[in-house]
Amino acid sequence: MKNVVVTGSASGLGAAIAGRLLQQGARVIGIDRHDAEIAADLSQATGRDEAVEHALSLADGVLDGVVSCAGLGPYDESQAIMSVNYFGAVAILDGLKDALSRGHNPAAVAISSLAAAVKPMVVSECLAACLDDDEAKAREIMKEQDGNPAYITAKRALAQAVRRRATEWGQLGIRLNAVGPGTMQTPMLDRLMSEEKHAAGIRSLPVPLNRVGSADAIAGTVCFLLGPDASYVHGVMLYADGGSQAFLAPDDI
Ligand code: NAD
Repeated sequence: MKNVVVTGSASGLGAAIAGRLLQQGARVIGIDRHDAEIAADLSQATGRDEAVEHALSLADGVLDGVVSCAGLGPYDESQAIMSVNYFGAVAILDGLKDALSRGHNPAAVAISSLAAAVKPMVVSECLAACLDDDEAKAREIMKEQDGNPAYITAKRALAQAVRRRATEWGQLGIRLNAVGPGTMQTPMLDRLMSEEKHAAGIRSLPVPLNRVGSADAIAGTVCFLLGPDASYVHGVMLYADGGSQAFLAPDDI
């Protein structure tokens, strides 16, 4: 049976991913602030370390999959967004890398976002601090900023961090990919749609498939990337966004 860690397993996409993995017979180790096998706050270094340690002990040091999905929304505070959506996500991936290297056909997926494609709103100095693993600097740069650029910058940094790890992880035999969901029906979207500032942007986003995606659609994409049908897919950012990124940047491949 596959041992898979899923962060953000208590809600939305993470819950759908955990549910789908359970259906497939995996043993899921959920990490979230509440309602999970491991309760941990991924905004804090201590919470990340405890989560990694606890997951390693539950899995006896051997994992076959990791899904880093926990995240805050653009309505949250900018510094917390940087800490959870980038530094928390990367800490879980890196902290569980050795356990994955001992797994069976191991693979990991980071949940980024279509937001990563909104390059004009990326705060480049903060992006660089993320990729330099300088959390204090990234937080300081975003101190006065709105949640939206923090969300976009963290999600772009996460997708780039995945690609930058492709060589090292590939040599360890671990496939690592990112998923960029578009507008998906989850509690995060409900909250966004309840605040006009965010709802207007979402309503104006072109979606060629002309519909909101389900959490289950992302669960399917993630399970594909974790499974044998994706055995040669490594280091990609796979947008699952109804075609929005293709609409926004048709020549960007
Ligand atoms: P959600 O709010 O329903 O779920 C997010 C989960 O992350 C929650 O269970 C929450 O408790 C957990 N979390 C937040 N902060 C945490 C912390 N400090 N420590 C531990 N857990 C924490 O949102 P969702 O829509 O399911 O989002 C899941 C992921 O998908 C997020 O990373 C989000 O940015 C990303 N995403 C969502 C959409 C969308 O349209 N819903 C689109 C693109 C990307």
